[in-house]
Parts: sequence; C-alpha cells; structure tokens
Amino acid sequence: MRPRLVPILLLALAGCAAPSVPASAQDVDTAGLLHDLEVLAADSMSGRAAGTDGGRMARDYLVTRLRAMGFEPAQDTFAVMRRDGEVEGVNVRVALDGTVHPDRTIVVTAHYDHLGVREGEIYNGADDNASGTAGLLALAADFASRPPDHSILLVFTDAEEGGLQGARHFVSAPPVPLDAVILNVNLDMVAHSDAELWVTGTFPWPALRPVVEAVEPVPPVTLLFGHDTPDDEGADNWIMASDHGPFHAEGIPFLYFGVADHPDYHRPSDDVDTIDPAFFRAAVETVGRVLRAADGALAGERPAG
Ligand SMILES: [Zn+2]
Repeated sequence: MRPRLVPILLLALAGCAAPSVPASAQDVDTAGLLHDLEVLAADSMSGRAAGTDGGRMARDYLVTRLRAMGFEPAQDTFAVMRRDGEVEGVNVRVALDGTVHPDRTIVVTAHYDHLGVREGEIYNGADDNASGTAGLLALAADFASRPPDHSILLVFTDAEEGGLQGARHFVSAPPVPLDAVILNVNLDMVAHSDAELWVTGTFPWPALRPVVEAVEPVPPVTLLFGHDTPDDEGADNWIMASDHGPFHAEGIPFLYFGVADHPDYHRPSDDVDTIDPAFFRAAVETVGRVLRAADGALAGERPAG
C-alpha cells in the first residue's frame, strides 16, 4: 500500500514542472525528414494506395521507424469501400502520456496513403502526403525526447484518398473517448510551395487563432489563415478536405496545415524532385512550434468554437 503522501507530492511536483519551455526554444529535429519523404515517395512503394502491397510497405516502414524511437505502434484495421470492391485499410498510431493533463488528448494526423498506380503510371504523392507522413515521424521523435503536457495520439491514417476513410474510422471507433480529445492537428501537403503555408480551422475555432499567432513561423515559411470561412466556396473551402474534417464534424477543434493546390496535385508528377526541402523543413518545424504552443496553452480544455 502506498502512503497517501506520495500522490500528493507527485501532483505538487507535476504542478511545478508543468510550464514551460517557450515554443520556439527547441525546434523539431528535421535531419531525417527528407530521407523519410524520399523512401515513402519512391517508385518501390507504388503510390501507397490503401489495400495494396505498396501501402503495406509504407506501413511497415512507419512501424520500423516508430519502433526505433521506442514506440510500440498499434494498428487499427477497417474496411475500405472502393469501386472495384472492398479492401483493408490500416491506421497506425502511437500514444504519448501527457505529463500534466494525461486524461486530455491532442490527436495529430497525417495520411500515408496515396493514389497508387493508374493506367500504368505511379502516383508517388511526394507532397500528398509523404510530406505530412515524414513530418509526423519527426514530430513523434520530438515528443519522444520531450514529453507533452497533454496526452498525444499520433495517427498515420490510411485511405484518406477517396473519402477520408481512415479518419472516419478513427472517430467512429476511437481508442480514447472523443470527449477527451481537445484538438486535432492535421498535416497534408506541406512540402511543395512558394513558401506559403495555410492554416485552416481558426474561423470555426476562433480561440485557436491567438495560439497560432503567438508562434513565429520558421523562415522561409509564412503562415496564412483561411479556406474556412463562409466566403470560401467549393474547392476553396478546406474544412472537409482532409482528415481533420471528421474531427470537426464531431465538434472537435482542428488546425489543418497544407499548401495551396499546385500543378502536380494528384498527378504522377507529384514527385520528390518537385518539393522544396528548405520549405518542407521549415513547415514541419513551424507545425511543431504550433503544436507545442497549443499543448502549453490549452490547459486541458477544448478551445471554444
Ligand atoms: Zn492528401
């Protein structure tokens, strides 16, 4: 039996230890970032479509990388409906326990699937979304070395292409109660740009805007707010455009990071040689800063909508 004093002491210590390294004091280590993108976007992964050998190879690579960081990844399988029948989708996730708010969770997502092979051409999806997937690996390593205040689930989703099915599966069968999820941060297309990175989600979730504005973007990245207002119509409105959509639909605040559509978007030319390594590194570091800032600022509460 533990003496009653111990938990009280631990609480006191946790209270002292909580705040807070300034968000800009330590950037994400991006040394392996480009290599991860190159591996995921190689022809050998055949475009990483859900339910294909290339998708499985990408997943195996993620699991190997995460194990090397000390994680034991969980895999959630679900049925993916496609025109030619049903295949199996697999989300890969790892969990970090928060040091201050362990019962409140931030879910960070990036989809690792892409379009596969179509009419004999491989769609490598270097930007969409080998970039966000590699970024999520870098964030995993960062959090492994410096634990967050809130618990964090890092989820590499499958089958985003063709209906956000991995994210829909996550919210329909969540590994933690959805009530405990206070924020989703989603990375999708963060490497191909003229240095502008969009952040979407602060119009429907305005309490997040000062959190983001307090963060200094890493040069050459400029952060632009938008694609989430009533004036953004059709393809200009990104609220349901990627995996953050199903979270938003469940009333969970989100921040989505991505670049504007470009000529290589959903084309076989979305290849490693069209991404901008300096922008890519800066984009992932900037997302890491925002994530640390949100982790420090939210104090266990969902930001108001
Ligand atoms: Zn995408």
